[in-house]
Amino acid sequence: MATMQHDLTLSRAAALDHLARAIPRTDRAYAEGRNTDRGPEVQPSTTALSPYLRRRLLLEEEVIDTVLAAHASGEAAKFVEEVFWRSYFKGHLETHPSIWTDYHRLVAEGRHRLATQSGLRQVFEDAVAGRTGIEGFDDWASELLHTGWLHNHARMWFASIWIFTLRLPWALGADLFLRHLLDGDPASNTLSWRWVAGLHTRGKPYIARAENIRRYTEGRFLPSGLDENPAPLDEVVPHATLPLPSPDPLPGGEVALLLHLDDLHPESLPLGSARVVRVGGLLAHAPGAAESVRRADEAAMADALVRASARFGCPAELVTEGWSGALPVVTAWAPVGPSAEVLPEGCRRVRRHWDDLVWPSATRGYFQVRKAIPTILRTREEAAGAMPLVTGRTSAP
Ligand SMILES: Cc1cc2nc3c(=O)[nH]c(=O)nc-3n(C[C@H](O)[C@H](O)[C@H](O)COP(=O)(O)OP(=O)(O)OC[C@H]3O[C@@H](n4cnc5c(N)ncnc54)[C@H](O)[C@@H]3O)c2cc1C
Repeated sequence: MATMQHDLTLSRAAALDHLARAIPRTDRAYAEGRNTDRGPEVQPSTTALSPYLRRRLLLEEEVIDTVLAAHASGEAAKFVEEVFWRSYFKGHLETHPSIWTDYHRLVAEGRHRLATQSGLRQVFEDAVAGRTGIEGFDDWASELLHTGWLHNHARMWFASIWIFTLRLPWALGADLFLRHLLDGDPASNTLSWRWVAGLHTRGKPYIARAENIRRYTEGRFLPSGLDENPAPLDEVVPHATLPLPSPDPLPGGEVALLLHLDDLHPESLPLGSARVVRVGGLLAHAPGAAESVRRADEAAMADALVRASARFGCPAELVTEGWSGALPVVTAWAPVGPSAEVLPEGCRRVRRHWDDLVWPSATRGYFQVRKAIPTILRTREEAAGAMPLVTGRTSAP
């Protein structure tokens, strides 16, 4: 079975089916095998759940609950920690939004350099086309463009070689990933590239080593010519930590529900006394997203609209001018990224209880979140049944 395909069906039903099939592999076997990238022709050593999780066709907490129902917590600990990385990165970007704006500035700056420096442009074009001559790197470039997915270790090696051996601007690599990955995610992608560069954990870059690549590709690749002793990148001004904005007060009575690509599970949005009478879908793709990514976004949104229509018993379609009439618009929280940038003025954003549990610990390194995992899981367990999956202050109708 190939790892991932461009025509992957992105729906809630497919997500649940994929999760059910992945569960048996999320125990100790996951911890032991997850670093190995066996290549695109065989089943990956990881779950490949990311395109569903990225759009919240599956919720992080739902995946963790399912895994912990199937395995003892010690057996599934590594997998659970990995899912928490997603929640951590989202909370970290939410509390450091200047990283996202700075990333955009660096992409524009990188493009300007490509336009004016022919040497750099040649290296960039060779890297994207997979013709650098670097074993492994060229294969991952081609795999990215042809399948829309890469194993985590391949992403790390690719980013490291891009930055430290090819000396290309990190933001242009992050942009390439964001446009082509079926799980392309502003937080996980931007912060992972910064982590590889030594900007997230400052001064500690991730260095791709030929021997490590040989070992974890089971001998498929042994590249030569890698810079294995580079200096980390640096930046002048560290990004400020901002307090988490509060969720908006929820109106009661009739509302229009806006769906976006960061949260496509409207069934689990506890909306207080609000009554959904209209649903609109907002498609805000990553800028320059590949056709395959746009198609995946559209399929996921179409599926969510059908489910929302059935759940609320009302019309649901992509937003058009005036779609909400005079109704108050309610939406799931959109974390920093393309959806948040185009949410209509005045719409009320409800935040999931999960995000409220994890994000306050995400202001610094991952360690803080990792330490909080037992408390977070216990709090959820205690609240089960008593607390909705989403928080939002309820105001009078
Ligand atoms: C340079 C670079 C860029 C990346 N860009 C993205 C991106 O755009 N979108 C994206 O979703 N992930 C990104 N990642 C993180 C990670 O590579 C993917 O989430 C993971 O490979 C998805 O495969 P999986 O579902 O099989 O993961 P599994 O190992 O099966 O893990 C289960 C879930 O846990 C979460 N997870 C696992 N590892 C990580 C991680 N290192 N960081 C964050 N969450 C993780 C994901 O939600 C994943 O689906 C990037 C990593 C690197 C090094």
